Amino acid sequence: MTNNRTFTMLKPDAVEKGNIGSILEKITASGFRIVAMKLTQLTVADAQSFYAIHKNRPFFPDLVTYMTRGPIVAAILEKDNAVEDFRTLIGATNPSEAAEGTIRNMFADSISENAVHGSDSDENAKIEGSFHFSEREMF
Ligand code: UDP
Ligand code: MG
Repeated sequence: MTNNRTFTMLKPDAVEKGNIGSILEKITASGFRIVAMKLTQLTVADAQSFYAIHKNRPFFPDLVTYMTRGPIVAAILEKDNAVEDFRTLIGATNPSEAAEGTIRNMFADSISENAVHGSDSDENAKIEGSFHFSEREMF
C-alpha cells in the first residue's frame, strides 16, 4: 500500500468559487481513483495541527484563518506514484510559478489562496488521510 495513495483538500477558495466539479474532473481525468471523499470544515485546532510544520512562519495566522473560513473537500486518491504525480498535477505553491495546465495555474489566485493541497510524502499522505477518514470510509 505504499507509494500509491495521496491526500488532497480542495481549499475554501476553490469551494467558494464553485470549482469543486472542475477540479475533481481534472483529478479523475488524470488517472486518480477516489478512495475517500467528504465536504467538511477545519476547526482552528485542526488547521493549526495540520499545518504545525509551518507554525513559526509569518504566514501561519493567515493560513489558519483562510483554511477554516469555509468548507473544504477532503479526499484520498489512488494512482501509481500518487504523491509525486499529484504534486505535478497541482503545480507550484505559487500559482504564478505553476506550469500551464496545472490545477493551481488554472484555479488558484495567490501563493496563500492556492486552491488545493497535496501531500508531500507517503508518510504524510497516510497521516493526513487518517486525520480525516476512518478505515471504513476508505474504498
Ligand atoms: N502559504 C502561504 N504563503 C507562503 C507559503 C505557503 O500562505 O509563502 C500557504 C499556502 O496555502 C500553502 C500552504 O501555506 O499551500 C502550505 O505551504 P507549503 O510550503 O507546504 O506549500 P504546498 O505544500 O501546499 O505547496
Ligand atoms: Mg506542503
